[in-house]
Amino acid sequence: MNYLVEVKNLKKNYSSKEAVRGISFNIQEEQILGLLGPNGSGKTTTIGMLLGLLKPSAGEIKIDKMNFETNRIDILSKINFISPYIELPKKLTVKQNLTVYGKLYNIKSLKERIEYLTEKLRLDELLNRVTGELSSGQKNRVSLAKALVNKPKVLFLDEPTASLDPEIGDFVRSFLETYKKENKISILLASHNMNEVTRLCKSILMMKDGVIIDKGSPSDLIKKHGRKNLEEVFLKLSRNNHESY
Ligand code: ADP
Ligand code: MG
Repeated sequence: MNYLVEVKNLKKNYSSKEAVRGISFNIQEEQILGLLGPNGSGKTTTIGMLLGLLKPSAGEIKIDKMNFETNRIDILSKINFISPYIELPKKLTVKQNLTVYGKLYNIKSLKERIEYLTEKLRLDELLNRVTGELSSGQKNRVSLAKALVNKPKVLFLDEPTASLDPEIGDFVRSFLETYKKENKISILLASHNMNEVTRLCKSILMMKDGVIIDKGSPSDLIKKHGRKNLEEVFLKLSRNNHESY
């Protein structure tokens, strides 16, 4: 099995708060792993550690068989992300933004890469617009282009379709499915959109209070908890105390 992400007994304490309390999981090549959990369950903290932004209090992270202590630069060149908390520079045009990020990653054929992403993500009309003046749905597609500019092997997506209308949300989901297959990348998808997770993820982690309280495919989880859909499973697990599982 080719795992692009391997996480073992990962923990993060913020002063007195234990935000992540010993989680372990792997993500295979060509896999989209869903990360679900109520607010405050530790998803963003987990992604922060996987991006090398937060130092784990304990545990191990390997990305493409490397760890951050010894291979930080190599790892950073192979990953990228979308986060609702980080905006692209507002005053630059879309093209300028993609160019700046491409240069930061030292991409060789940057012009071709931007052309490819422009076509695939329907950005033609937006390239010369000022990024800060775009609608949130437009910005979202630009963020996705930025996230793919370095051809990452692992993509971390924190609610990538939260602000998209159903049609564009559907377009982005189809794009992600195709892109993942064609490029054999791994994706960690944190989302509160249960239809999205059901459609994109064969495997899901349910987090609560800093631990993984359940995992499995959407259909397995629905069956196991005797519910009709993933949303009901989520509500059941979010409300109950995880000690009872
Ligand atoms: P999620 O993304 O699942 O909503 P977070 O990872 O953001 O969860 O938060 C997990 C827990 O850690 C929450 O209780 C949150 O209040 C706490 N937390 C997050 N960031 C910090 C921080 N910088 N300092 C202290 N506590 C934090
Ligand atoms: Mg979060």
